[in-house]
Amino acid sequence: MQHRKITFIGAGNMARAIIAGLVAGGYPAAAISVCAPSAKNRDALAAEYGINSSADNITCAKQADVVVLAVKPQMMAQVCLPLQEQVDFSGKLVLSIAAGILVSRFYQMLGEGLNIVRIMPNTPSLVGKGMSGLYAPEQVSQQDRDYTRDLMSSVGKVCWVDDENGINGVIAAAGSAPAYFFLFMDAMQQEAERMGFSSQAARDLVQQAAIGAAALAAANPEISLATLREQVTSKGGTTAEALRVFNEQRLPETVAKAMQAAVSRAQEME
Ligand code: NAD
Repeated sequence: MQHRKITFIGAGNMARAIIAGLVAGGYPAAAISVCAPSAKNRDALAAEYGINSSADNITCAKQADVVVLAVKPQMMAQVCLPLQEQVDFSGKLVLSIAAGILVSRFYQMLGEGLNIVRIMPNTPSLVGKGMSGLYAPEQVSQQDRDYTRDLMSSVGKVCWVDDENGINGVIAAAGSAPAYFFLFMDAMQQEAERMGFSSQAARDLVQQAAIGAAALAAANPEISLATLREQVTSKGGTTAEALRVFNEQRLPETVAKAMQAAVSRAQEME
């Protein structure tokens, strides 16, 4: 990927994940900087990855080709106001990873001509297994789209959405999804413990089954998930019996309702 000068405004978990992915992929540390008010966060990142760090968002943004806005959504207006006053964003690429802040809002906060891409990552990015949804308004160049794709590919997979509303679908299907799997796995672990396994053994059983199922699916992209499920379900067997209970309890419908609820909440937050 191109090694543009990139600055992260915000030194939290997501900034750390992306910086780690970039550095591991050979992006020169000297081309990366991070800005945050807390010296502890930014200095830890600087020490760990050899990148530049600063408390001065304005200078960092001025010097950068790419500005990643990686602060909490509720902090965004406070961060953007001084940037709008003091930084000329023409010729720069701005990337926002904040949930719920629309491109139109960034135009208001940083200027109508802003060259911006929205990114919706998820927490498995922290271990290089992220899934990010990307949205770019029409006028964003192919070169900038490719750069953004390569950036987020350093921490997992990416998927473009054509319409900004699609970002809410990404939230429902991937952004919030790790928590759905944790809920399911936690319920399984608790039941395994009630069956007599130690907490550690129960977690190992459930976690390895989850990793194994996901790896099996990933290794066989041409086989549908429904077929993979059928392949481990013998007629009249134990798996069939467990699945009968899930279906009787309307698990698929519950999943659909939960994902719709996530979309509705994302819309309310816009
Ligand atoms: P975090 O709380 O870990 O980090 C936020 C960082 O912003 C901190 O380092 C803080 O020091 C810094 N900050 C606060 N005020 C600042 C200012 N005025 N100038 C510069 N830096 C400032 O948050 P996070 O989990 O890394 O999330 C960052 C963004 O990523 C959020 O907008 C969130 O919506 C988005 N996001 C997070 C996840 C996730 O799973 N964590 C997923 C998708 C999107």
